[in-house]
Amino acid sequence: MTSPLVRFAPSPTGYLHIGNARPALFNWLFARRHGGRFLLRYDDTDIARSKLEYAEAIAEDLGWLGIVPDLVIKQSERLAIYDAAAERLRRAGRLYACYETADELDRRRKRQLARGLPPIYDRAALKLTAEQKAAFEAEGRKPHWRFLLEPREVTWDDLVRGASHVDCASLSDPVLVREDGSYLYTLPSVVDDIETGVTHVIRGEDHVTNTAVQAQIFEALGASLPAFGHHNLLTTASGEGLSKRLGHLSLRGLRESGVEALAVAALATMVGTSDAVRPVSSLDELAGLVELAHVSRAPAKFDEHELAALSARTLHHFPFAAVADRLTALDLGGGEPFWLAVRGNLAKLDEATLWWQVVQGPATPVIADQSFAATAAGLLPQEPFDATTWKSWTQAVAAATGAKGKALFMPLRQALTGLDHGPELAALLPLIGREKALKRLAGESA
Ligand code: GLU
Repeated sequence: MTSPLVRFAPSPTGYLHIGNARPALFNWLFARRHGGRFLLRYDDTDIARSKLEYAEAIAEDLGWLGIVPDLVIKQSERLAIYDAAAERLRRAGRLYACYETADELDRRRKRQLARGLPPIYDRAALKLTAEQKAAFEAEGRKPHWRFLLEPREVTWDDLVRGASHVDCASLSDPVLVREDGSYLYTLPSVVDDIETGVTHVIRGEDHVTNTAVQAQIFEALGASLPAFGHHNLLTTASGEGLSKRLGHLSLRGLRESGVEALAVAALATMVGTSDAVRPVSSLDELAGLVELAHVSRAPAKFDEHELAALSARTLHHFPFAAVADRLTALDLGGGEPFWLAVRGNLAKLDEATLWWQVVQGPATPVIADQSFAATAAGLLPQEPFDATTWKSWTQAVAAATGAKGKALFMPLRQALTGLDHGPELAALLPLIGREKALKRLAGESA
């Protein structure tokens, strides 16, 4: 494959959530896998709803996921290019002026439905004479513009769905330009895909019908078609669509709640595939796993508990280098030994703070049996401590006291950490060190 160019084209009208992060990820991973480039395109022709703060938030949230676009464009800055394309379609007789009001269209649709006909636009505007048009204009009406579809089947080999077809004879001619001259999404998207040289359009299956319409626009503008891939959509566990209103499933909501970005990426792209979702250590690793052709055609169910569990497992696999900066930002020392000691006990990274507190102190010991603790203290080896210290010490304590199993380990854990659960003490003991261990065994906070 020659170097692909893919694009993610959000409208900056809200925050990204896990559902609409999926096309971003599918495109990004595809580009990584095939040595391609990734274009971020803001579909912001709806000026009333598009906001700069959302555009900035989208870039930030993509960055959190690890997506750094090679190129960024904004449709609101490219209107002249769309005007030229619209003009070209008008001259070719493929874009025609319509004067119906929304009410008129609505009544016509209801009549069609009442007569058992499909509610397709009847192309009445195509028959308007110049005088009739002038009369509408004199009334103060402004035209909106529809694309004249050829009544034929459009077929393509979908990257996800395989052989695909849509019969355009069953569709209304789509409105491309509104009365106020602003563009709906359909035409600018095609024009940008042509102008920027997009090779693969990967998006949700809610765009399958658009693809048939847009394929005809590509052709009407004399351009060849990119490849198309339509992934399944994500629903809630109960099968409802995810909406932008689900704030806690927004990427920022997930980030604030401490979910790992890589877990979001892995779940978002692997859920509902034939492969089990498993933790990955980088987006490049994930890029090697995600195959568009393996994405299921059925809707994928998103389960928050599955995400939380995957996020924890993702943390448990992280090498120190993957989290070093974040541990520093949390003001946690201890380096790699600390990370390796505690990572398996974390559901969220910031819980490492608790274990750092336990290691560094002061920790308040819990001593149930003072003489047991005193015996254990007397047997604590000299430093340096290493990974074997715990074993040799507890063997000595067992020999001296006769305690074994939980009766041996729990009092030591409670004395050393003040808690009755936690990371392996073999790993924690060298981090706590002899001085603090002795104080804690003596019942002192240290
Ligand atoms: N702005 C469109 C959307 O968010 C882009 C669809 C596309 O990828 O073509 O649905």
